Amino acid sequence: MTALPGAADGIPSAGFSPADRLSCSGCGFVYDPAAGDRRYEVPPGTPFARLPTVWRCPGCGAAAHRFFAIPAGMDPLDARLAALEAAHRHVAGTDMAGLAVCNPHLSVEAVGFRPFGPGWVGCLIAPWTLNVVVLPADAGLWAGLNDGDKELLDTPAGQFAVTAARLGALGVAMTIPAVSDMTLFSDQEDARAAGMAALDALLLPKAEETGETADEAPPEPALPAPPPAVGTKKPKDAVSRRSLFRRGG
Ligand code: FE
Repeated sequence: MTALPGAADGIPSAGFSPADRLSCSGCGFVYDPAAGDRRYEVPPGTPFARLPTVWRCPGCGAAAHRFFAIPAGMDPLDARLAALEAAHRHVAGTDMAGLAVCNPHLSVEAVGFRPFGPGWVGCLIAPWTLNVVVLPADAGLWAGLNDGDKELLDTPAGQFAVTAARLGALGVAMTIPAVSDMTLFSDQEDARAAGMAALDALLLPKAEETGETADEAPPEPALPAPPPAVGTKKPKDAVSRRSLFRRGG
């Protein structure tokens, strides 16, 4: 193979072991030493610390310092959630830093993820947003969709409008905005409870949930019961079911 400029130097090790896989905090791309990186003519078996200094993330172009080690044995969902959270933390510290729409009492956190359809579903809390997120197990699924494309998602509770969001190497996720104003939450536990309630509203069959039918739309119905309360304010104080989901046509 052709030696690349800087290859002799390699990327400085940050203390991780040669076999560690590292994930990009910008897009979730995972560098696996066992696989190498054909795009840069990096052979299988090359530790992250031996990548050429010109190497950049194949997913988003981020530099090596934006990568963090994935603990050995971490399961596929945990690895994706770590990348998803890292990407949002980066946005929180840059593009969204200090904006009035951000609630300073909230931090980035993925909650309630469980197997669903082609992958997993859960909630992503950030200081400026709370979204239900469907992550595909196959990053190539929905690859033909662009940011903002609308689709309809069938769940046990009915059909919901979802919006495609491109997440770099994590593939394309489907999202449902669950809360429009994050400043209404008093703390992280409050936001967590709303996220879990949003998942219940999405995943619990209608009949088991409140007894209402698809034809009935009573004004401001109560949210499903939140998980054991720890916070000081019930999520229904901050959001109504109506604001959680806009039903798909
Ligand atoms: Fe990346």
